Amino acid sequence: MYDVVIVGAGAAGLSAALVLGRQKRSVLVVDGGRPRNAPAAEMHMYLGRDGGAPAQLLADGRAEIEAYPTVERISGQVSAVDGTDGAFTVTVDDEVSVQARKLFFAVGVIDVPWEIAGLAERWGSEVFHCPFCHGFETDGLALAVLANGADAGLGAYVADRYSDDVTVCTNGPSTIPEPLRAMLDKTGARVVETPIDRITGEHRSLEVHFADGTLLERQALYHRAPTTPNTTLTRALGCEHFDDGCVRIDEFGKTTVPGVSAGGDAAHLAAVPDPVTLVAPAAADGVRAAVWLEQDLFSDTFA
Ligand SMILES: Cc1cc2nc3c(=O)[nH]c(=O)nc-3n(C[C@H](O)[C@H](O)[C@H](O)COP(=O)(O)OP(=O)(O)OC[C@H]3O[C@@H](n4cnc5c(N)ncnc54)[C@H](O)[C@@H]3O)c2cc1C
Repeated sequence: MYDVVIVGAGAAGLSAALVLGRQKRSVLVVDGGRPRNAPAAEMHMYLGRDGGAPAQLLADGRAEIEAYPTVERISGQVSAVDGTDGAFTVTVDDEVSVQARKLFFAVGVIDVPWEIAGLAERWGSEVFHCPFCHGFETDGLALAVLANGADAGLGAYVADRYSDDVTVCTNGPSTIPEPLRAMLDKTGARVVETPIDRITGEHRSLEVHFADGTLLERQALYHRAPTTPNTTLTRALGCEHFDDGCVRIDEFGKTTVPGVSAGGDAAHLAAVPDPVTLVAPAAADGVRAAVWLEQDLFSDTFA
């Protein structure tokens, strides 16, 4: 019986493990090894590590939790969860089952780029989703923003902040709302509605090939891909989820199911409908949730 099983070892999961290991709690961390920012060469806005490799932060985190003897970490996919507060069963890779008093889900989200040939393989390296993460590095470049509808606001943003050469590609008839269209016009960003056939090219030299045979040469692309939170397991436990697919947590990192906490990209407060999904907030979520899980484990001892 572990005190806590942590599902996912990105910034949120490893931070929770660190806190609980320091309280001598028995912890099992299970990780599928697919952190969201893995395709990116650099990680920004994490104080003290700005510009460092995302994988290095997690490697250092794993090394730090190894110093705490009550924390175990295994590679694998949690395939099923069952039970109630104080007595959960966690199955890994459909094979091994372990027991836990409490659970912490730090499972992240999966980005699902538009289905355009050449887009997915450039995701995170030449195609960026977030101007906060990558905007400074694309300053002054010729940019395309693959977006339609309200998402085209990203085009107005990068045109205002980073480049006077921005083309928004809607990949079909524009559904950009009129006020946003006016904002784009004001920034000088162009809108191209022609469907995209494929993306080709290399670092700082990309081509958007349109279905009508025309070509747009760009130095970097932006695309806010739709995301799918990894919430099959929290749904199986009966946790409440929002329309965006994320699991609902409170200020203590607790879901609506007793004994089950969550944090990172896949979870947010009701008061924050469009949450900030970044490494530092994910790490903070892990710390916060672990502190309160520890308080609950302590209280349970004397109940
Ligand atoms: C291309 C790109 C670049 C980015 N750059 C930045 C940046 O520069 N700065 C920044 O602050 N943020 C950046 N982000 C956002 C950042 O990646 C996320 O905010 C952060 O990774 C969230 O951490 P997390 O711990 O919630 O989830 P993740 O880091 O995604 O980790 C979740 C982990 O859970 C595992 N997992 C999922 N389901 C299971 C399961 N059933 N069993 C076991 N393990 C499971 C996954 O395999 C994964 O290892 C970027 C995102 C992208 C897409």
